[in-house]
Amino acid sequence: MIRCYIGLGSNQGDSRAIIVEALEMINGSEAIEITGVAPMYRTVPQGYLEQDDFINTVAELNTTLSPDALLSTLQQIEIDLGRVRTIRWGPRTVDLDLLLYGNETINLPQLQVPHPRMHQRAFVMVPLADLNKELQLFGARVSDTAKRLAGEQGIVKLGLMSGY
Ligand code: ADP
Ligand code: MG
Repeated sequence: MIRCYIGLGSNQGDSRAIIVEALEMINGSEAIEITGVAPMYRTVPQGYLEQDDFINTVAELNTTLSPDALLSTLQQIEIDLGRVRTIRWGPRTVDLDLLLYGNETINLPQLQVPHPRMHQRAFVMVPLADLNKELQLFGARVSDTAKRLAGEQGIVKLGLMSGY
């Protein structure tokens, strides 16, 4: 079993319901068990600003899947939930990112882990710190990075997830 963290985001449709649905689909996969879900956050879009706010959270899971198989599973769920790819960093029904896969560093064309931009994003680091206070990433404590980013980027806690 490998301990992984997944970032979830949505800014189209009923984003909270879509994220709950995505979590159920992830947990429904035979080789994945979700062991924790952070609260949901409302966050200001990064990069392409002319779009609605996002709802984001992070899930912790155990899996026997390889990194590639896990990425494929997440991408299939994105498709099943009707993600339409238009503008990079633009609006999306659901975005599922593989943030961490155990302690592994992966540098494939289709998959970089740790996710290369995660440590710059409050919408990833804040919910990740909720799940694991001890985690270190790129030489810094996730909870310290989260605190700094939360002061720089628009992020508001919405409430606790239930059921996991
Ligand atoms: P972003 O998640 O950066 O907003 P996209 O979801 O549109 O952008 O990017 C999807 C692409 O990113 C996919 O083609 C996938 O192969 C690639 N990718 C690279 N590393 C990862 C990762 N750790 N998690 C998810 N997708 C990744
Ligand atoms: Mg993505």
